[in-house]
Amino acid sequence: MRHACRLEAGATKPVLQFLSMGKLGIYIQVPFCQTKCTYCNFHTGVVSPGRFVPYVDAVCREIRQHRSLLESSGARVSALSASGEPTVDTLYIGGGTPSLLEPHLLTRMVQALRDNFTCQLHEVTLEADPETIDAEKAAAWAAAGFNRISFGSQSFVDEELKAAGRMHRRADIYRALPVLHDAGIRNISFDLIAGLPKQTALSWRQSLGETIALSPEHISIYMMEIDEGSRLGLEVLQGGTRYSARELPSEEATASFYELAQLQLKAAGYLQYEISNWAKPGFESRHNQKYWRREPYLGFGAGAHSFSGAQRWANCHDAAAYAAAIMEGKSATETVDEVTLSMALEEELFLGLRQAEGIELRRIEAQYGVRFSEIVAQLAASGMVEKEGALLRLPAEKLSISNEIIVELLRAVQVSV
Ligand code: SF4
Repeated sequence: MRHACRLEAGATKPVLQFLSMGKLGIYIQVPFCQTKCTYCNFHTGVVSPGRFVPYVDAVCREIRQHRSLLESSGARVSALSASGEPTVDTLYIGGGTPSLLEPHLLTRMVQALRDNFTCQLHEVTLEADPETIDAEKAAAWAAAGFNRISFGSQSFVDEELKAAGRMHRRADIYRALPVLHDAGIRNISFDLIAGLPKQTALSWRQSLGETIALSPEHISIYMMEIDEGSRLGLEVLQGGTRYSARELPSEEATASFYELAQLQLKAAGYLQYEISNWAKPGFESRHNQKYWRREPYLGFGAGAHSFSGAQRWANCHDAAAYAAAIMEGKSATETVDEVTLSMALEEELFLGLRQAEGIELRRIEAQYGVRFSEIVAQLAASGMVEKEGALLRLPAEKLSISNEIIVELLRAVQVSV
């Protein structure tokens, strides 16, 4: 079914007024995949390659006309046209599987960005799945300025990859990595999923061990969440056996896989700088850190989200409706949320405490008119939080229960607005 892009009733208009002027991150969403993985609940579709060009045309137009498109939905965009215009320092093209696109289409989007923003691009990331990578593409990516690949390895065990509906196999990982290196791309981030169907303690050790042996600059580990919106989630809900739904590791087993990863990655010299992310020193993702630090970013493409400091807004998810709206010269913005003081405080805690660096307690207390001293003392006494000077953080061994701890913190404070 095709959905129209429309601003939600009652939504306020987006205000492109960056509270923290300076650096800006850009995200471009490419919502196309070769097949649908069994556990996936993202708004991505399997479409004919004929749809790629019109979609990229729309993204380039949205980039070119972002000021007027936002104005057409009532945005105040004066902040971007003033001399204090922010400099774009990170670009992240994700999906979906953006590496499916012909390289010249990716180049066009990067060029549209360079032509319409002040850019000093330090980190340009492309999500790429192993089976989509070849020497010609990798060389074109490097020539377009991509200097970081988020590599969708997920597992080194073919049985698990097959059960999850992934298109690649272990051999593809070993074939693709040198191709990227030969093209001169030296900043590679491997993704692994803990908790895949058929995964065992032994097979997890294998995936983890092979990842470490390949020595990527960055590793992201996600704990499997079974979502009812996925084929696997539905099967689990209905008690069926498809997609190896009865061969999922238990939550306890998945948590133990994560804890093993924490130990092994630390021993291998990786720093855990966020709940799901480890890096060799200096290879932390600058772009993703903007999300956790609540720095401004703009998103282009279907379903892309933006954050100005004062508001969060999102484009409609349906790729065809998105492209139609943009090509008709309309805004594709579908939802806009004012970030109230209490929402901002929640974000500070939920996003800030995901990071190993923690949060500056005094700044947050002053900014939001709250006092944490009592609850922090209680949580610190039971080992749930650590305090170092003005910084508050979660101990590494408590990261997997971060939500519970943050909810405790929030419960204890009264927001004065
Ligand atoms: S490749 Fe990623 S976005 Fe595409 S179906 Fe699989 S999990 Fe979903």
